[in-house]
Amino acid sequence: MTDEQHVLRPTYTRAGVRAVAPRFTLPDAEMEPTSAYQVVHDEVMLDGNSRLNLATFVATWMGDEADRLYAEVYDKNMVDKDEYPRTAAVEENCWRILASLWNVPDVKACIGTSTIGSSEACMLGGLALKRRWQLARRAAGKPADRPNLIMSSAVQVCWEKFCNYFEVEARYVPITEEHPCLDGSDLEKYVDENTIGVVAIMGVTYTGMYEPVQEIAAALDALQERTGLDVPIHVDGASGAMIAPFLQPEIEWDFRLERVHSISTSGHKYGLVYPGVGWVVWRTLDALPEELIFRVSYLGGNMPTLALNFSRPGAQVLLQYFQFLRLGREGYTAIQQECQDVAKYLAHGIEALGAFELWNDGSDIPVFAWRLKPGHTENWDLYHLSDRLRMKGWLVPAYPMPDNLADLTVQRIVVRNGVSRDLADDLLEDIRVETEWLDGLTSPMPAEGRRSGFHH
Ligand SMILES: *Cc1c(COP(=O)(O)O)cnc(C)c1O
Repeated sequence: MTDEQHVLRPTYTRAGVRAVAPRFTLPDAEMEPTSAYQVVHDEVMLDGNSRLNLATFVATWMGDEADRLYAEVYDKNMVDKDEYPRTAAVEENCWRILASLWNVPDVKACIGTSTIGSSEACMLGGLALKRRWQLARRAAGKPADRPNLIMSSAVQVCWEKFCNYFEVEARYVPITEEHPCLDGSDLEKYVDENTIGVVAIMGVTYTGMYEPVQEIAAALDALQERTGLDVPIHVDGASGAMIAPFLQPEIEWDFRLERVHSISTSGHKYGLVYPGVGWVVWRTLDALPEELIFRVSYLGGNMPTLALNFSRPGAQVLLQYFQFLRLGREGYTAIQQECQDVAKYLAHGIEALGAFELWNDGSDIPVFAWRLKPGHTENWDLYHLSDRLRMKGWLVPAYPMPDNLADLTVQRIVVRNGVSRDLADDLLEDIRVETEWLDGLTSPMPAEGRRSGFHH
């Protein structure tokens, strides 16, 4: 045997083929496509397993037909509405389907659009509130330069971004043990003539709880009677707007409440589509000032657009329509119900271990959070449990609650389509074993260098 034959050769090291490249500068030369493929493929190999990612709300599985459809339509640019009129028509079908699912008074007289996710949808909802308020203020000869928006301190970060990027004062109503959600109490302390709207969340990111939109609307009705201020609501239904219509149809949170001007959701959360699609719908054309709609001619035709992005994938919109057709009301109900059953099963299983106290049990959206029982131990906390679970591949984040509960650490599980009962049993067993291990410690775990898990 020659020396040469003893040299280890990875499969993508071949004579004359380069498979090394500088990390931070564009390589000068080309690389064989098979090598480039292998490099990128290997680069992501150490990412977490998406199916064991119980931190995310976003779909990680759709099935073979959806995967095939995706591969057929990945080249569609959503903005090319004149070139792809059928894709544009499907987009409109989808937001009208959502509008009727959310009980819009007249499905022909509402307006909506797809977006890249709930964040963009919330920005558009917020911009409509702001512009509507500005137009009314100017028409009344009043200053319109100090808009504010009212929301819970537990809003998703997209609302902090909206207020920052679009220069709206954010008025946060802190959550407390007595008021774990924005529930309409004390609203009069926050609302004034510069208030453009109130954000109500169906499925708070931190805990999965529904904010009682009906109670918030009633508080704003009472406030209007007293002060004359007519303050609209945008419902951030990133996850809940695709759960409540199926699992809690009796809860009035949507366009049945006149005060609800607009609703947004993430198609890629409980809408059951791969990452890259959100939706926003306004109850009437009046709720969305016409001047926010752009009509551009350079794509051919005269296409109205309402978006922060220009080009974006059209495939996810087609996949959303696929899910609507494929599942229908029955299919969505069955999947969301299964998620909720698994969430409650897991929540009560974790409660039964004795070390934890549930914040909620997954009976709103299939998401729940828990805390360590006060006084249970001085030796470890939920960050340590999160780390122990990560060693087994489970991604179960621990993080501090928002103001005024920032001293409270919780841990959260999001049950998505694909988190089966079997998987839940395995997870519960691992939580039991790791809790027992931590409870066996005779001195405290080190607290240095800990970080809270990503939980948006
Ligand atoms: C996830 C989430 C968002 C942001 O949605 P993306 O689709 O990720 O942009 C906004 N609000 C709430 C309540 C969420 O849960």
